[in-house]
Amino acid sequence: MSERSAHAGRLLLVGTPIGNLGDLSPRAVEALASADLVCCEDTRRTGRLLQHAGVRAPALLTVNDHTEVRAIGDVLERLARGERVAVVSDAGMPGISDPGERLVRAAVDAGHVVEVVPGPSAAITALVVSGLSAGRFTFEGFLPRKGSGRTERLAAVAHEPRTVVLYEAPHRLARTLGDLAESCGGERRVVLARELTKLHEETWRGTLADAIERVAERAPRGEYVLVLDGAPAAAAPTDEVIAAALAAALAAGTSTRDAVTEVAEVLGVPRRRVYALATGG
Ligand code: SAM
Repeated sequence: MSERSAHAGRLLLVGTPIGNLGDLSPRAVEALASADLVCCEDTRRTGRLLQHAGVRAPALLTVNDHTEVRAIGDVLERLARGERVAVVSDAGMPGISDPGERLVRAAVDAGHVVEVVPGPSAAITALVVSGLSAGRFTFEGFLPRKGSGRTERLAAVAHEPRTVVLYEAPHRLARTLGDLAESCGGERRVVLARELTKLHEETWRGTLADAIERVAERAPRGEYVLVLDGAPAAAAPTDEVIAAALAAALAAGTSTRDAVTEVAEVLGVPRRRVYALATGG
């Protein structure tokens, strides 16, 4: 057993930079240096990161979308032997549109300790720089490429009241912006956060319609996160609208009590407001 594995077995999720190597944290370096095994998407890429960090290469295991399930047995065996297994992806946080989630679940199910050394993630980085509401948001990652999966997700995004964060490849950006404009309307605000933390970092803010024009003028290059404003809240129904709905329900023979409940539910307004209008209170 190596000196490193004198520690208790644990799975370490390690965040790595999304572009700027200066964002590799001292704790990340420490975790990678202490690992008996580093699971990574691309051994050459992670090898270069380790070299940059001055970490003498521990054993590397390729874990990508295709091999993650196969790697579980090997990783669990090592954890059971008391080894420290680090998980990194090519960039950012493992498990966020990247492998890692299934390894974590397997380690948790087997009763092993799982720790995280947080680092940057493009989603959060783009959200905070976007200027759109970060108080409540939802992460969509990459939309399904085609079929009903894509149509349904676009419809859900269109009605989502929270800020939506999406990832997209540059060569699919124009199509995705077009589809978003179709489902959300061209006036919806969007932020294109490009090449974050890198030399050509750029944060563009405008409407979906403007974004489509911009992308048509200049072919997108590099990595992009789209941050989309939430759907505007539907206007609250006025007293006149509630009264008309009540009148229609009563005219159909519904009792006042049932009409109040029905109208409150359908219009999404408090029952006591509908009751007050029904009884002139
Ligand atoms: N695990 C990563 C994370 O935590 O952000 C995400 C990996 S996902 C496979 C890669 C996508 O993240 C890219 O296609 C792009 O949408 C986004 N991305 C990654 N780095 C970025 C950067 N520096 N600037 C803008 N977007 C980036």
